[in-house]
Amino acid sequence: MSPDRYAVVGNPIGHSLSPRIHTLFAEQTGQHLVYEARLGDPGHFERQVRGWFREGLRGLNVTVPFKEQAFRMADFRTPRAERAGAVNTVWSETGGRLTGDNTDGAGFMRDLVERLGFAPRGQRILILGAGGATRGLLAPLLEATPARLVVANRTAQRAHDLMRSFGDLAVSTRLQASGLGDLPEGPYDLLINATAAGLGSDRLDLPAGLLAPGAVAYDLVYGLPAEPFLVWAHAQGASRVTDGLGMLVEQAAEAFAIWRGVRPDTRPVLAALREETLSA
Ligand code: NAP
Repeated sequence: MSPDRYAVVGNPIGHSLSPRIHTLFAEQTGQHLVYEARLGDPGHFERQVRGWFREGLRGLNVTVPFKEQAFRMADFRTPRAERAGAVNTVWSETGGRLTGDNTDGAGFMRDLVERLGFAPRGQRILILGAGGATRGLLAPLLEATPARLVVANRTAQRAHDLMRSFGDLAVSTRLQASGLGDLPEGPYDLLINATAAGLGSDRLDLPAGLLAPGAVAYDLVYGLPAEPFLVWAHAQGASRVTDGLGMLVEQAAEAFAIWRGVRPDTRPVLAALREETLSA
């Protein structure tokens, strides 16, 4: 019997770790599947994706820059995809209609709470960035009832727009928005870098005193690009700092569980990836 086919689509896509992650999940759980990277065509994205599913593709992950296009083209969307305004996981229902989900927020929370041991309830959180990734994080973070959550963005208006669209979930949380140049005073127990910027001289310029003693700093990007932010956070007193590799593995596990009905153990997969990226 030929294996079930899955893929990730992006542009560029050569750097993607998703094929490796899903291959390790499949080996671990004994699932008979192949998972490959496919280059998306920005001009014909929907036609391309529908064609792949007609040819028998079982599931698709979507990465930069197609998450919003995938959201618009999905025939059905899960509530969390609806909230995020972006889709990163697609599968086919009977009749070829496509369902879109967003597993980024769930993946982030699992990494934050289970691996790092950070419980957001009652904590003070600062998120830098108001793009698609932040949209995915906001609902699960607010549902975990932090005391305060600030979204700060280079373009302050985008942060204010997000605050308005997620305000209904801020039941017991003081939700604020700002620009990067006028950050509301800390300290914060959790600082999340969800911008596409690092912390070089021409990039993020953060003031001292943002972090509470023992704070957690989390950069959504992974590997070397995350290092300047994490080094800065450590020097500012963060007790735990991490890049986004754990989130990447967890959001993939969430997609795998939806598609295959079995949840892989992410710990050995994350450890293997760390080893492979260090020795690369
Ligand atoms: P996006 O929608 O394009 O948003 C980019 C964000 O970065 C915006 O808030 C933008 O601010 C800000 N930004 C860009 N360049 C900046 C600079 N030089 N200085 C300050 N802010 C800057 O991207 P996204 O989908 O939210 O992704 C954000 C990051 O998270 C990306 O690096 C992505 O790779 C990463 N990510 C990781 C995972 C994971 O699994 N680990 C999952 C999703 C995303 P403006 O609004 O002012 O332009």
